[in-house]
Amino acid sequence: MELWYTEEHTPAVRFSIKVREQLLCKKSPFQQIDIFDSAEFGKFLTLDGLMMVTEYDEFIYHDMIVHVPMATNPSIKRVLVIGGGDGGTVRELTRYDGIERIDMVDIDEMVVDACREHMQITSCKLGDKRVNLYFEDGLKFVRRYESAYDLIIVDSTDPFGPGEGLFTREFYGNCFNALSPDGILVNQHENPYYESYSTAMKRAHRRIRELFPVCRVYQAHIPTYPSGHWLFGFASKKHDPIRDLDAPAWNGLGIETRYYNTDLHVGAFMLPNYVKKALERDD
Ligand code: SAM
Repeated sequence: MELWYTEEHTPAVRFSIKVREQLLCKKSPFQQIDIFDSAEFGKFLTLDGLMMVTEYDEFIYHDMIVHVPMATNPSIKRVLVIGGGDGGTVRELTRYDGIERIDMVDIDEMVVDACREHMQITSCKLGDKRVNLYFEDGLKFVRRYESAYDLIIVDSTDPFGPGEGLFTREFYGNCFNALSPDGILVNQHENPYYESYSTAMKRAHRRIRELFPVCRVYQAHIPTYPSGHWLFGFASKKHDPIRDLDAPAWNGLGIETRYYNTDLHVGAFMLPNYVKKALERDD
């Protein structure tokens, strides 16, 4: 018998991966957690039936969510990751010797436990001595801090279920307050193609733009995410991701990456016209 994982990208579009076996099926107080093994993408984690991370293409997402802000301001020392329970974002951050403290706050400890057991490719650096793990709602966590972080990375689920609060005005305002005067906020920004995702993308962009003087969007190609085209938000109190990129300095760090490079860093901000228009429109 063949086993397939199928995800509904829209009511009329489905995406399927042939599965070798299901490794985990658990319900936490927050969400349904499943881990599968497959020939094409290796092991993969889904939450509430939505793809979070696969062994074989995770490098694209984690390179882009971490190295773009780090190459813009290599002096970043204190980082907060909101969500990110698979550990991939933390893994990339630990490659920077200059980072002194990485706080990760995920609402669901069971996701972290599941990834520690089955997804070592992403969870392998959660035990780094600079990493502090907190299990609570990121929306509440960030309220407590002022000027405490140089970089906040929102590596969350989509804006429904437990991740909903991480796309609100209140949350972005609290992130602004929690950031240092030259702080950077990067968030996963949904896909621009399918309407339900692109509505969320426009709303998030509008809310962030109201707060941060620098507000840009960049893109990557991620095969297992809806439409394969994914966006990230870059907002900052001071640093511009293109003007302030010091390519020789980042290349001098000798960090080997499979997706990110400093040419692509600039190119990723060059958006297709339909995406630019959608972001400019105020509907
Ligand atoms: N790369 C992924 C994506 O965009 O599909 C995100 C991966 S990561 C597994 C998402 C994490 O966000 C999950 O572990 C989930 O528990 C966490 N999360 C969802 N809502 C949250 C909240 N309000 N506060 C903190 N973490 C949250």
